Amino acid sequence: MKLLFVSTPVGALGSGIGGGVELSLYNLAQEMIRRGHSLQILAPADSTLDDLPIVQISGNLQIIAQSLDRSAAYAKHMPEGLIAMPKNPVLANMWDYVRRVESEYDLIVNFAYDWLPFYLTSFLKSPVAHLVSMGSLSDAMDEIIVQTSKQFPGTLGFYTPQQVATFPELTPPIYYLSSGIDLSLYQFCGQPKQQLAWLGRISPEKGLEDGLAVANGTNISLVIMGKIQDEAYWQKVQQDYPNAPFEYLGFLSTREMQQVLREAQALIMTPRWVEAFGNVAIEALACGVPVISYTRGGPASIIQDGKTGFLVEPDNVAGLIEATKRLGEINRQTCRNVAEAEFSLEELGERYEKWFIDILNFRL
Ligand code: UDP
Repeated sequence: MKLLFVSTPVGALGSGIGGGVELSLYNLAQEMIRRGHSLQILAPADSTLDDLPIVQISGNLQIIAQSLDRSAAYAKHMPEGLIAMPKNPVLANMWDYVRRVESEYDLIVNFAYDWLPFYLTSFLKSPVAHLVSMGSLSDAMDEIIVQTSKQFPGTLGFYTPQQVATFPELTPPIYYLSSGIDLSLYQFCGQPKQQLAWLGRISPEKGLEDGLAVANGTNISLVIMGKIQDEAYWQKVQQDYPNAPFEYLGFLSTREMQQVLREAQALIMTPRWVEAFGNVAIEALACGVPVISYTRGGPASIIQDGKTGFLVEPDNVAGLIEATKRLGEINRQTCRNVAEAEFSLEELGERYEKWFIDILNFRL
């Protein structure tokens, strides 16, 4: 297959602004090449992705969709949601490029959670596969997603059933793709330090305040890694927990990040929203690190309660703290074994390849 991957327009690949989508795109690209497919990636300028082939597209970045969600300030006036585009948008520039080269490819794969690529699907001759990377955020996005699933059945891929449940009725077939990682990049650690880890974009929907509350309540130091997406929020959570022991290491590369992560007793994952998946959970498991999170969204489908971590009633910080006391019950080797069995790159490639082939067959 000749594949054209169109990246997220919120940030350059490698910047961390794109969150889990960056890792998903990178992993999938590698695996598809390994399987003998040819591939080109379109991404915003300044993207870096080892030696993978990238066409860099200039233009202004898109605002992240989470900031345009139902809780945003404008929502009072526009409750159905807002479709926002900057001047000279990189998103439009990428899809203009797609329009010019589409005949050279069998399949276009869209990684953007944005209205425009869904809308443009019917204007293109080549089929488009859309990876829907988040749950429902606005009526405007829901509408175009539902419409695309009806007009082009089977072309939408999702991470988890928990994510799909947030959308209004979608037309089957629904593809649950889960996620996968290159397990060789994550080293198992059987003897953790006396510390907990928190990993992800520092933005309100990620609930870092609950991670700091756990550090505060247990007096175990929390090592925080990730891109600061919302500086005001970052300042506020620190002020709210002045005595919580923590260390902030910035946004680290996968290699550096896993060196720290693997030494943690547990990953504390505290999403306030319905996290579509949560790649950080499987990265932790790959290092033998159990995950403590809420019974909400992706983590609920990843973590096996009592076996690879603990699932706690959503937003119950006391429950998270209680769970840290039970970490001795978890066998770290089991966590690694589960990651190997369920979240390998080969399994991921298998699922995506089937999805892509189904789309091509459907179109023929
Ligand atoms: N991440 C990273 N370095 C850091 C912190 C986070 O590479 O210092 C990566 C992490 O490995 C994961 C991604 O950021 O791949 C976050 O993805 P996730 O699916 O957990 O959440 P999202 O940001 O997509 O909501």
